[in-house]
Amino acid sequence: MLAELEPLAMSTAAYGFVIALGLLWGSFANVCIYRWPAGRSVVTPGSHCTACQAPIRWYDNVPVLAWLWLRGRCRACKAPFSPRYLVIEAATGALFGVAWWAAVIAPRCSSRSARGSCTSRSTPRSAS
Ligand SMILES: [Zn+2]
Repeated sequence: MLAELEPLAMSTAAYGFVIALGLLWGSFANVCIYRWPAGRSVVTPGSHCTACQAPIRWYDNVPVLAWLWLRGRCRACKAPFSPRYLVIEAATGALFGVAWWAAVIAPRCSSRSARGSCTSRSTPRSAS
């Protein structure tokens, strides 16, 4: 069963999915970081601008990308959002990617490099 899932786990789609999951987790982590110390719910209300209280639409809440295309500002009132959001989302996405690589891809890469299923060139070939 696990062996059948291996090609899927090794695919670029899976890698992208894991990073996307990391970005979403980072986005949620930002909510927790901001609200937990204040004793507020992390579920309600939905994301909103802390300056003008305008709700943040789903397309303005896409991790990393939304921060970039809004240039770190509220769409409604142009109040700046902390670059911390961008940094935490990007870092969490990267960490998920690194973890997936280290746990899933790299172990299979090194054991199967002879079969050419891995394109990594960092795997040192054993010299005879
Ligand atoms: Zn605003």
